[in-house]
Amino acid sequence: MKLHLYNTETRQKEVVEPADKKTVRLYTCGPTIYDFAHIGNFRTYVVEDLLRRSLQFFGMRIEQAMNLTDIDDKTIRGALAKKIPLNDYTEPYRVAFFEDIEMLGIQKVEHYPAATAYIPQMIEMIETLLKKGFAYRSPNGSIYFSIRHFPKYGRLSHLKLDELKVNASGDNEADEYEKEQLSDFVLWKAHDPERDGNLFWESPFGPGRPGWHIECSAMAMDLLGHTIDIHCGGVDNMFPHHENEIAQSECCSGHVFVRHWLHVEHLLVDHKKMSKSLGNFYTLRDLMKRGYTGLEVRYMLLSTHYRTQLNFTIAGLDGARAALHRIGDLIDRLKGIEGPSQGFSHLDLADQKFRTALADDLNISVALAALFDLIRELNTAADEKRLGKEDAQKALALFQQWDEVLAVLPLSRTEQIPPHLQSLLEQRTQARREKNWRLSDQIRDEILAAGYLIEDSPTGARIKRK
Ligand code: AMP
Ligand code: ZN
Repeated sequence: MKLHLYNTETRQKEVVEPADKKTVRLYTCGPTIYDFAHIGNFRTYVVEDLLRRSLQFFGMRIEQAMNLTDIDDKTIRGALAKKIPLNDYTEPYRVAFFEDIEMLGIQKVEHYPAATAYIPQMIEMIETLLKKGFAYRSPNGSIYFSIRHFPKYGRLSHLKLDELKVNASGDNEADEYEKEQLSDFVLWKAHDPERDGNLFWESPFGPGRPGWHIECSAMAMDLLGHTIDIHCGGVDNMFPHHENEIAQSECCSGHVFVRHWLHVEHLLVDHKKMSKSLGNFYTLRDLMKRGYTGLEVRYMLLSTHYRTQLNFTIAGLDGARAALHRIGDLIDRLKGIEGPSQGFSHLDLADQKFRTALADDLNISVALAALFDLIRELNTAADEKRLGKEDAQKALALFQQWDEVLAVLPLSRTEQIPPHLQSLLEQRTQARREKNWRLSDQIRDEILAAGYLIEDSPTGARIKRK
């Protein structure tokens, strides 16, 4: 069975196969590490994890890069406001990102390049673009890409360049803008002390810093080569970010940049995109403080098809919890089944349904329907004493296989303790050592309020969900 995915560029489902027949080269636009990521960002990363796991499930090898944006307006503004070096400012958010993806069951990928480590590659690309006549220096000293020189500009988001007003004045330094503001985009921003303080990098075009778009192209091509098999991001990345990545990469290398584009629809709140700027966001940490686990959040983000918008509600998260309980109860039941088999025959068909659904553009709703149909059949067979130990073990083995992709099934009920609670527990232990009972009680109350209990024992304290 072959995996088919919808390609944003061609607007059809296509078979996914690596160009070199060996390894799928996958690039996923990653977080800007100026703050904690919100669960909207994580919807995109969870889907990308589902994609990665599905590629593996269908027998493919993968080399993936996800960038960490540590140079942009927001990180620089943050570092300047705090009067600390850029790296000191971004580091805690980088650490938090890795904690969060672990709680969400997201596999680590092969490369996490940070923009600050790829400045020479970005400069080299800009030099090539200048040499080939695709870029120019504007009066303010910044370097721009001239979209008129790339007639295929707009092919991803299906823009018709000749019908649109193009601002080719080289005065738009914004990294993000709307289609109505279509313009030549900035490759290198000349140093502006008012905007960037003393944060700049030296280059043959003078001191300054890269624009956001060139960062992804330089890192992607350096790590994965000039042609990438699959490139992903949220739908808001399609224009202008990915369009600009295509233009500068193809003009630089002379090769097709990406063979297959995949875009994840947004997570909404009250039918508006969840975003920092609207202030309508939740971080994973917010939800864990309310007692939800990373896996419940993963299930909620995963269980709607990636090309459909998903409206976030707490009730939806409770629904995810209930679904996981249902699966967990059946798994516990299967583990206790003894006795001879009576020939339970639904497993192969269920597996066929599950695989067919995934192969069809990661159709998760149909894949989960196969899972819940099977749960119902197994429960009925167990009620009617038709299920033997061998059947139960085979069913558990099948769940195990499916969980290579889903990474969310409660196969062993080990509890996930949120990292901030774990660190509170350590602080409480320290307070008790110092006989600071007031602080120790205060911390205990905080842990209780998050929905957890503390069990003290001679070997130390541990946290358990209430
Ligand atoms: P940013 O840090 O803003 O560059 O976003 C990182 C990733 O999260 C990008 O791929 C965005 O497209 C994606 N993203 C941002 N907001 C949302 C949202 N509300 N729903 C889904 N994906 C999002
Ligand atoms: Zn990117």
